[in-house]
Amino acid sequence: MTVPSDPADDAAERKMRFVFALRSRGVTDARVLNAMEQIDRGTFVRGLFSDRAYEDMPLPIACGQTISQPSVVGLMTQALNPQPRDTVLEVGTGSGYQAAILSLLTRRVYTVDRHRRLVREAATLFRELDLSNITAITADGSFGLPDQAPFDRIIVTAAAEDPPGPLLAQLKIGGIMVLPVGQSDAVQSLIRVTRRTNGYDYDELRPVRFVPLVEGLGQNE
Ligand code: SAH
Repeated sequence: MTVPSDPADDAAERKMRFVFALRSRGVTDARVLNAMEQIDRGTFVRGLFSDRAYEDMPLPIACGQTISQPSVVGLMTQALNPQPRDTVLEVGTGSGYQAAILSLLTRRVYTVDRHRRLVREAATLFRELDLSNITAITADGSFGLPDQAPFDRIIVTAAAEDPPGPLLAQLKIGGIMVLPVGQSDAVQSLIRVTRRTNGYDYDELRPVRFVPLVEGLGQNE
């Protein structure tokens, strides 16, 4: 006789395994782990790949883009060291997953994407999840968001060859930006930029692979 498994137990076990995998890949900040436990990645992955939402791999989303690997989301969030009173800019909304995690850790999140459709779908999810401190905007994020600047934290989830000048300029003194840099078809480097009173400090964190930061808005949407 087989005992039918309780779906609530399955969900709890899946979550436990998800968090365990994050820890084993170096995500150790308790606040980050807690936020990632609360935001269900399955909500942000639709269609064909939804049954793989809890695996540590990037997955395809609409507009030919990807939702990042959970451990990379965790490591980037940890490197950003978000504080409860912070205003954050995310460049590259994608599915909205990273923004949702940041919304639990900070006061206000602005997230921009060049694809109108991704912004629209992510904004619907933020409303459904009651994440009312996120504003999602269609824009070319390489110019930042001058009307809302400066930011305590900036996270870029698409790779540029160098940190975009407007983003450096929109970082507060003492602020931190985490972003992948490098050629789009090669392995890139995740770096952390800290703005000091008299310049910027750069730390190289680890090799990563992201979709490229592309100029201009997506067409025909
Ligand atoms: N953070 C996302 C994953 C982002 S994938 C998540 O949690 O799901 C990278 C995203 O960057 C894509 O959606 C792509 O459309 C966006 N992007 C690329 N270039 C951009 C630009 N110049 N301005 C804004 N968004 C950009």
